Amino acid sequence: MVHFTKRMSRGCSLVWLSGLWIAGLWGQNPNQPVLPYSPSLNLGSMERSVDPCVDFYHYACGGWQKQNPIPPDQASWSVYGKLYEDNLKFLRGILEEAGKPASGRDTVTREIGDFYAACMDEAAVNQRGISPVRPQLDAIASLKSTKEIAPLVSRLQLAYGEDLLFSSGSSQDPDSSEQEIAELSQGGLGLPDRDYYVKDEARMREARDHYLQHVQKVLQLAGENSPKAKQDAATVMRLETAFAKASLTRVEQRDPYKLKHKMSPAELTQLAPNFNWTAFYREGGYPKFAVLNVEEPDFFKEINSLLASEPIENWKAYLRYHVIDAASPYLSSNFVDENFEFHRKYLHGAKEQQPRWKRCVSYTDHNLDDALGQAYVAKVFSPELKASTLDMVERIERAMELRIQGLDWMSSETKEQALAKLHGIRNKIGYPDKWRDYSPIKLSRDNFFSDIQGTTEFESHRQINKIGKPVDHGEWQVPPPTVDAYYDPQMNDINFPAGVLQPPLYDPKTDAAPNYGNTGGTIGHELTHGFDDEGSQFDAKGNLRNWWTKEDREKFDSRTKCVRGQYAQYIVVDNIHINSALTLGEDVADLGGEILAYMAWKDATKGQNLQTTDGLTPDQRFFIGFAQWDCANQRPEDLRVSAVTNPHSPPEHRINGVVVNMPEFANAFSCKQGQPMTKAPEKICKVW
Ligand SMILES: [Zn+2]
Repeated sequence: MVHFTKRMSRGCSLVWLSGLWIAGLWGQNPNQPVLPYSPSLNLGSMERSVDPCVDFYHYACGGWQKQNPIPPDQASWSVYGKLYEDNLKFLRGILEEAGKPASGRDTVTREIGDFYAACMDEAAVNQRGISPVRPQLDAIASLKSTKEIAPLVSRLQLAYGEDLLFSSGSSQDPDSSEQEIAELSQGGLGLPDRDYYVKDEARMREARDHYLQHVQKVLQLAGENSPKAKQDAATVMRLETAFAKASLTRVEQRDPYKLKHKMSPAELTQLAPNFNWTAFYREGGYPKFAVLNVEEPDFFKEINSLLASEPIENWKAYLRYHVIDAASPYLSSNFVDENFEFHRKYLHGAKEQQPRWKRCVSYTDHNLDDALGQAYVAKVFSPELKASTLDMVERIERAMELRIQGLDWMSSETKEQALAKLHGIRNKIGYPDKWRDYSPIKLSRDNFFSDIQGTTEFESHRQINKIGKPVDHGEWQVPPPTVDAYYDPQMNDINFPAGVLQPPLYDPKTDAAPNYGNTGGTIGHELTHGFDDEGSQFDAKGNLRNWWTKEDREKFDSRTKCVRGQYAQYIVVDNIHINSALTLGEDVADLGGEILAYMAWKDATKGQNLQTTDGLTPDQRFFIGFAQWDCANQRPEDLRVSAVTNPHSPPEHRINGVVVNMPEFANAFSCKQGQPMTKAPEKICKVW
């Protein structure tokens, strides 16, 4: 759902259910796959013929890239993605056991088992065809004027969790972070970003052509004749293009002040009077509220004027297409196939559809995350693992404290505020203290679509019901098996789900050097997000408040400018450069994180007599461990979407772009001035 500020994560994209890595812990049942152990430093993943001083990423990951071609059902492949795949296989075992209709299953087992079994019953899903969405299509067909649109949009948003026209939900008050308020934000697009509608580049024009064809096909599958579907597709494109033009860019959305427009419900009605907000909120069962945040008022003004200028028939075409497209993954195979053809194959370059079981495992993890999460952490996250990773987190935080205290460019006034913010950070490790109860949902083992809608509506209501209540600091935004971590600026917390604290990312069997390089870097990355160009605008309590002196902020900005200039030179794919105004926060976090990890590692191992192993010094092993968190292959199509939408730089630049700024790296590999991985001292970027 919506959040005023977006979560800032380590991984390229947060895939639901990314991360069970359970080596040997689930061995009792011979039918359960046992996952191979993989160390946090893998010599076989290296390509030693590459000179680390010329291209460190390919030196550390070249072997991995050769041994791991992208599977046909994937758009990209990486260490994280591979974990995801192994975990899917593992979870399949849990779910197939849970799905056997034995008596005496406990509640959680029955919930996840029935949901999965219903999804796997493809014959029943195919037999229903498009009928599950008929009631909603009928409701759209019966609309008589644009005045009636609001309550229906409200119902459809709840049922699909989609940003139909726009997005609505709850968020922390930017000025008073302990309070949840209502929020509205831009949305309504079918292509991955507003740029796809407004840019006159060949690849964008091509994507628009394919999108028109896709919309037409979807409408024809739903029974429209070809000329009508073609005309409707043009209407959908025209409306969405108007939405896109009124939308903020991704770079603009990184400025939290551009997203803060608090108002009363009466002011919202003044802003966009053609939409019946009272009916919208009443129909959705929203609690009464006195204040909401409208992230992009101009977007809602545009919706308002379109409601006056566009006849109801055009809105019906828009709603019809989006309802069917959102429902397609859960409908019969003709809809599933067309959905794959456009979204995953054309846009991201995947060659084949994923087998059904993979999709069903993912849906279960996404829609019943805490239920499946419980089954997971019981097996994989021991108290010892929690204690050892918490120790690492605390050491990285101490490194940050020393770093702040030692900065020669920052005044003591700002330092005091920065330290207060650091000390205010909550560390969340593994999984939530309290599990969500799904028992109010009526789940059935023979109606997959109704299970999807039931669980989606449950989550929509849960989000909406936060409005007017104090913030729950125990809540997580991702399921425990996720292979990713995040920082939330309004919560001022760093979150490391159990899935990201498993080998080969965190490997209790290996020594500290690669573990600090890898997981230490992840911890440092999330911590640095609290102090990147965006996160640093929030204070210790998570309020949007400037705690910097003017002079210090200017010095900080000139430091981030160095990073921005560096990454702007790198190519993503073809001749497309990194949009480094978009990736700046992540690039700063990557650099800061690795510097902190290195400091913390040195401190944790001081006085120890560290030895060279496999011909690699401890310092070299630290840096190789770092690089190997992000070994990856990516299809060019996927890279092209990433170039527009992904706030993270491509893997090779996330590694090489960091080490060039660390003289410790050049020392470790005896790199010389003039070599590509060695920057002249005066050109080195350092933010923290
Ligand atoms: Zn990040």
